[in-house]
Amino acid sequence: MPPKTRFAPSPTGLLHVGNAYSALTCQHWAAANQAGLLLRIEDIDFTRCRAEFIDGIYEDLGWLGLTWPEPVRLQSQHFDDYRMAIHRLRELGLIYPCFCTRKSIQQEMEVMGLAPHAEDESILYPGICRGLNTAEQVSRMEQDPFAWRLNVGKAMARIGQPLQWHDEKGNSHRAVIDHDVVIGRKDISFSYHLSVVVDDAIQGITHIIRGVDLEACTGIHRLLQNLLELPEPTYHHHALLQTAGGERLAKRHRSTTLRSLRVMGVNPKKLVQLLIENRDMVWPFAPDDHAGIIRQLA
Ligand code: GLU
Repeated sequence: MPPKTRFAPSPTGLLHVGNAYSALTCQHWAAANQAGLLLRIEDIDFTRCRAEFIDGIYEDLGWLGLTWPEPVRLQSQHFDDYRMAIHRLRELGLIYPCFCTRKSIQQEMEVMGLAPHAEDESILYPGICRGLNTAEQVSRMEQDPFAWRLNVGKAMARIGQPLQWHDEKGNSHRAVIDHDVVIGRKDISFSYHLSVVVDDAIQGITHIIRGVDLEACTGIHRLLQNLLELPEPTYHHHALLQTAGGERLAKRHRSTTLRSLRVMGVNPKKLVQLLIENRDMVWPFAPDDHAGIIRQLA
């Protein structure tokens, strides 16, 4: 398969310099490896994604000088692909409907004397609905909203060996999945984890280059690829750009959005150069240091 990577933002806000760093890292790798670079819009979450942010992604990436083949895949137009994957996991008996709410999970965890949150603050699940029998499942599915959870123990047993993968540098990683993760959300019946692995396979993505904040998801993605018999891409998780104070550049830092930099008169070539040559991964400006930004980047 010819090498191909992708940049896959979610249109839940304006792109900021951290996103630009990620997109440029993908572009840099693609250029160095004579590989393709796709843009994919991950807009399944209709409660948070907005059309104006999709337009913003095209504008901001175009301003940075990035190009990508058309048509761009918008996840919101491919729900059938993801539902087919859910169907397959159901046939394999590896997912089960979960009727719990955040509150009921927390209460159950308290009763069991367990900490409800994983280290990354995601909510752990003690398997409450895993043991429901088919009749109970069917009758409750007719009345109550439900999510699909992956029976991780059963899924791992099906694979029958420790789930490992090698990153781009050849380092070996082992999947640690500590609870039955949601594979189908209550509202749309599939989730980010599922749509991302289905799309990477459909689009022939051989290399996944993304921020280290998504590294913890890779075990789940490798597991799903195995279960659905999808090709295994190579992963590279890059460090995240931070402020000088060590804080992650997040959407709330409004002055670091690409749009505000553009409006301030920043020269995109200088910005690209700063990001590409930035070995210490620090955004060297305080959030309100517009004068400094202009001095160095206009
Ligand atoms: N859509 C995800 C995000 O914006 C990225 C998904 C991925 O690269 O796997 O964080």
